[in-house]
Amino acid sequence: MPKIIIIFFGPPGSGKGTQAELLAKFTGWKKISTGDLFRAEIAAKTKLGVLADKYIKRGQLAPDKATISLVEKSLKQKASGFIFDGFPRTRWQLKELLVIFSKAFKKNDRVYALEVVVSDKEVKQRLGQRRVCACGKVYHLAYNPPIDDGVCDICGGKLFIRNDDKPQVIAHRLKVYHHDGEPLLDYFKKQSKLIKINGEQAIKKIHEEIVEKLKELRLI
Ligand code: ADP
Ligand code: ADP
Ligand code: ZN
Repeated sequence: MPKIIIIFFGPPGSGKGTQAELLAKFTGWKKISTGDLFRAEIAAKTKLGVLADKYIKRGQLAPDKATISLVEKSLKQKASGFIFDGFPRTRWQLKELLVIFSKAFKKNDRVYALEVVVSDKEVKQRLGQRRVCACGKVYHLAYNPPIDDGVCDICGGKLFIRNDDKPQVIAHRLKVYHHDGEPLLDYFKKQSKLIKINGEQAIKKIHEEIVEKLKELRLI
């Protein structure tokens, strides 16, 4: 069975995490979200977490080597497909990932990038109203609210604002995405392995479009 690898790209707040989660549920593929992995390390106060936190709270990228070590650990899981959310974010990370793929998977593996296209203006609006739970579930006050105000539907935990979802930090994260992350899309575009999705639609509609496009490509 060929392994499928879908890499979500998009600015912070474009809905990558939300869509990666829905796609993982739909396909049974494993989702690897480096942001979630870092937040778990920070919560557990590991050495890597303490280091990464210094960068993350300023909206800067965590060091490449720390990031790749988390990814390598996650790739040891057994799965017929992997969904990346928030990785790779630098040219170095993309190169490392291709080396890992060439070692871990057979030649007929299919690697696609999926770009969720959302304007900077919409991103700022969304992140201002993002609320999260320690269990990893993500909400939006207007578009994807919890059933009870301030409380997670899944685990009953108290919702909070991510400490990098502050206006100044958001502006910096957007710059970092346009400078370091977005140019990586060229690599996939040149090989006709770039799927573009309009991210300024309802969550369910975007999910349906993603499923449709993956079916067209016979990935699912
Ligand atoms: P990312 O992982 O790209 O940073 P998230 O999936 O966390 O983005 O989404 C950012 C915020 O926007 C969250 O509050 C989420 O609930 C909300 N959101 C996600 N997709 C949509 C959408 N299509 N329309 C409106 N809000 C959305
Ligand atoms: P978003 O897409 O909403 O910005 P993520 O949850 O994907 O957020 O990431 C949060 C933060 O974690 C990033 O701003 C960055 O500091 C760090 N991070 C996540 N993934 C990576 C990565 N691949 N390389 C370096 N830093 C990362
Ligand atoms: Zn929860």
